[in-house]
Amino acid sequence: ARAALAASAGGPGRTADGTAVQLLANVGTLEDADRAAALDVEGVGLFRTEVLFLDRAGAPSLAEQTDAYAWVFTAFGDRKVVVRTLDAGADKPLAFVEVAAEENPALGVRGLRTSRRHPELLTTQLAALAAAAERTGTHPWVMAPMVSTPAEAAQFAAQARAAGLPTVGAMVEVPAAALRARQLVAAGLDFVSIGTNDLTQYAMAADRLEGDLADLLDPWQPAVLQLVQATGTVEVPVGVCGEAARDPLLALVLVGLGVRSLSMAAAAVPAVRFALSRTDLGTCVEMAGAALAADSPQDARRAAARSADADV
Ligand code: PEP
Ligand code: MG
Repeated sequence: ARAALAASAGGPGRTADGTAVQLLANVGTLEDADRAAALDVEGVGLFRTEVLFLDRAGAPSLAEQTDAYAWVFTAFGDRKVVVRTLDAGADKPLAFVEVAAEENPALGVRGLRTSRRHPELLTTQLAALAAAAERTGTHPWVMAPMVSTPAEAAQFAAQARAAGLPTVGAMVEVPAAALRARQLVAAGLDFVSIGTNDLTQYAMAADRLEGDLADLLDPWQPAVLQLVQATGTVEVPVGVCGEAARDPLLALVLVGLGVRSLSMAAAAVPAVRFALSRTDLGTCVEMAGAALAADSPQDARRAAARSADADV
């Protein structure tokens, strides 16, 4: 009954023993943002800005982008908003960005790499984000997708700060970034956010668009959890914004690996809040240890569930 009460109470995410775990929404369109803002979420953990760029002949103008970002910042007011800069390429192709057909788009010029060929896209976007923040008096967090090296992190952080955006992070979705998360952060990041969709794709060398490989594309794969663990050791806030965050049992494992914010489709938040509210941090750590010791995603899930039940 106490647990049910905690769930119906809503509010900020916390473990049974009081460790704060922010519960955030993933949004793409402005309608998404409006819908999520009306719900009991602590903010936005992933604003997929590329949605504004899809199905168009050219990039939206500075003014158009500024209006769109200001709309989202206003909708969330004082709540946290983490904006991801343009993530084009591979599963998110943009007509005006694709110059040549790539043999392996998932390994090609995508995410932050797009700014190598089109620096003006990132420059304009950062300027629009800074203008929207100023217009609305808000402080968005800004992160880049598909960061692979500390040099890329340093370059992005410098550019974002120069544009007037002081809180800068990177997505961790390439195994190299997970293994070198400390060095990435030391390059000048204020936070990191793990994208488990791409991190799983790259760790398992399995195309995320290939349905036949669903068994490999499982975020319960112990190798993926080990990369989350490596990332979870950094001193700055660590979040997860991939689909893994919406699985209540896996969310507990992620918290046990050091993750302190979970971003997901807003509708999934209550179930994750409930799971957190009835589990101590120590149990999350035990669940994570049990999952890491497993040899398959099925065994990892079973081991985590057993650890959870042993402590309820
Ligand atoms: C991810 O890769 O996990 C992620 C959150 O980004 P997207 O799914 O948009 O690539
Ligand atoms: Mg991704």
